[in-house]
Amino acid sequence: MAEPTGCIVAIDGPAGAGKSTVARAVADRAGYTYIDTGAMYRAVALRAMRAGLEVGEDDGAIAELAGELAFEFRAVGDGQHLFVDGEDVERAIRTPEVGKLSSVVSAIPEVRVRLVSAQRRMASTRPVVMEGRDIGTVVFPGALLKVFLTASVEERARRRYEELVAYGEDISFERVLADQRERDRRDRSRAVAPLRKAEDAVEVDTDPLSVAQVVERVLELLRERLEERDEQDA
Ligand code: C5P
Repeated sequence: MAEPTGCIVAIDGPAGAGKSTVARAVADRAGYTYIDTGAMYRAVALRAMRAGLEVGEDDGAIAELAGELAFEFRAVGDGQHLFVDGEDVERAIRTPEVGKLSSVVSAIPEVRVRLVSAQRRMASTRPVVMEGRDIGTVVFPGALLKVFLTASVEERARRRYEELVAYGEDISFERVLADQRERDRRDRSRAVAPLRKAEDAVEVDTDPLSVAQVVERVLELLRERLEERDEQDA
């Protein structure tokens, strides 16, 4: 597939809709770089926690921290890990505690400003598949393709539960479901960059589809957009 510089595939949607799995597979198949913006918010939460910073009291310091971190996604094994200032934080950012804090930290406007700049820089030199909540609405309103992935809250909680169990977490399904509902509520109701579908995003309900089917659908949409763009440029 052609790899035009500055080509962005934006994949947004609620937690657990399968964004990471789909975005990673689409990036692999298209030969694009995969960028998980949720991992960046999680990393800010982790660093704030380690530094003993409190949301509400130390928001300025948390934003400053967010602007200073050096983010790098590196291939590890057959996956991709986030490195922050050279440290592999992949495992540390996936705990439920950090997940919860990341949702609170991401509601600080100045934190978002810093991370959005970092995300735009990452996509300025290479084609990317960028996954998050506000990629199609705020980070790249002019993205070549915008996909909004959805799934029922029960299905999303079930997937997250399996992921956590695989990570060795001792947690009940009920707790994951409750956390998921709470996270949805916060992501949708926050004042800055709330989770919502961009008007020109294609909504894909993943409940009745396999991962492979969702990936094929997104690749098909990408091919269409690239063709349309080539025709316009001709
Ligand atoms: O996707 P993930 O669950 O890893 O994201 C962690 C948190 O970061 C989410 O709860 C969400 O509030 C926040 N986030 C965000 N904007 C993004 C990506 C994630 O606010 N683009």
